[in-house]
Amino acid sequence: MQFDILIIGAGPSGLSTALHLAKHAPHLTDRILILEKEHHPRLKLCAGGLTADAEITLQRLGLDVSEIPHVDASAAHLDFAGKGLTISIPNKHALRIIRRNEFDAWLANKTRDKGIEIRENVTVKNVQPRDDCVVVETDAGTFTAQIVVGADGSNGITRRCILPNEAIHTARVLEIIAPEQDVIARSIALSGATTGSEVEATATRQSTTKQEIASSGVPVHSLRSLLNHHSRNDTHKSEDAYFDFFPVPDGIAGYTWDFPTQINGEPKRCWGIYDTNVLAYQKRPALKEPLAEEMKRHGFDLSAYEIKGHPIRWFSPFNQFAVPRVILVGDAAGADGIFGEGISIALGSGLIAAKAIRDAIAKNDFSFRDYRRRILLSPLGQALTIRTGITHILYHLHWAWFQKFFWRVFKPVVAATAWLFVLNWAKRLR
Ligand SMILES: Cc1cc2nc3c(=O)[nH]c(=O)nc-3n(C[C@H](O)[C@H](O)[C@H](O)COP(=O)(O)OP(=O)(O)OC[C@H]3O[C@@H](n4cnc5c(N)ncnc54)[C@H](O)[C@@H]3O)c2cc1C
Repeated sequence: MQFDILIIGAGPSGLSTALHLAKHAPHLTDRILILEKEHHPRLKLCAGGLTADAEITLQRLGLDVSEIPHVDASAAHLDFAGKGLTISIPNKHALRIIRRNEFDAWLANKTRDKGIEIRENVTVKNVQPRDDCVVVETDAGTFTAQIVVGADGSNGITRRCILPNEAIHTARVLEIIAPEQDVIARSIALSGATTGSEVEATATRQSTTKQEIASSGVPVHSLRSLLNHHSRNDTHKSEDAYFDFFPVPDGIAGYTWDFPTQINGEPKRCWGIYDTNVLAYQKRPALKEPLAEEMKRHGFDLSAYEIKGHPIRWFSPFNQFAVPRVILVGDAAGADGIFGEGISIALGSGLIAAKAIRDAIAKNDFSFRDYRRRILLSPLGQALTIRTGITHILYHLHWAWFQKFFWRVFKPVVAATAWLFVLNWAKRLR
């Protein structure tokens, strides 16, 4: 089976590449095939936090993500041990949270609407670039293509086939979806009640009856003991998103998160922990304990929920992103190191890839010699390079005093740097 442009992976990066090709080179639309090993809607482990850059990239494609279920976090808190920097944007949400099964299926439908074929349940096994084509072996036969786009994520086969000896940076990530039910406990804690009778009184005030407390499975005596876990002044508001860098001094180069989310319209919390692994040369502490500790502080019992893990490959400006006839996008090229944020980057990298493909076909030059330069010189590449630098500095300076200083005292500089150099690249990406 012969195709001009074969995209491996129908996640945000592969679908964005196809959608940007449809926009910037519509004559190529019927020459694209996307291969996807799963079937949409499929599960993808991800907290689903969309930054403004993701929304801007989608808007420029004429897409309105508010068509799908989402929760808007009014503020994002970047804390060290419960205290730090709050990001909020007047009259706007700080972070929009989607579920990836819904988001990716929606984006796949928008791609199909452009007349682009997505062949699902096809797993790519091998990618072999040759002088005159690329041979792609799958469990559904062998395909040949002029150009292949590796959009197959952090664990993808494309990078492993074309750049087997590249140094890679991989972060460890754990995620939990907790029911909002525990919020009964949290809202009582928020009210500041400190005795058992106050807990009950507050529960009643908040129209949470004793029966509801009983049916929540959280007995009053545990609510009281829960309040004792709030010795730090760090109660979480249900409408906000939280990042807490308290694990860094213990050798975990990352943070815990707590986002509001929803599943089938039911409010939920998404908890997780991220470790870039930049301190792994010292020790490699387990991730579960600090996450359990943080969840317990907020009235959640980690052991009650299913815990899932997945690596995230993060970006290095020293990596290669292409070989002749094959280019990488999204996580396959590298996500953000500081937070492991990758949806906006996957969407933005699709634009860079689409223009590189359009020009390669126009010039009949499939070397992709300039692809790395295109990435690094783009506003997205510049932001990613700065983020990689910050990742190394922020996490190597892992002492508690530095982390406190950075998130609590240095915050005007941190906020200005984030605004100018880390975020807001999408408007400038052409
Ligand atoms: C726990 C966790 C939480 C995260 N939270 C956030 C967040 O809140 N915000 C954010 O911006 N980012 C987050 N990320 C990162 C984000 O999920 C990724 O950056 C993003 O999914 C990258 O998109 P992609 O299209 O490059 O890859 P993917 O989304 O991984 O898509 C790759 C696609 O390729 C398919 N595929 C893989 N191998 C093959 C094969 N051999 N053959 C055919 N198809 C194949 C896969 O099935 C998949 O559909 C998180 C990641 C994790 C692990």
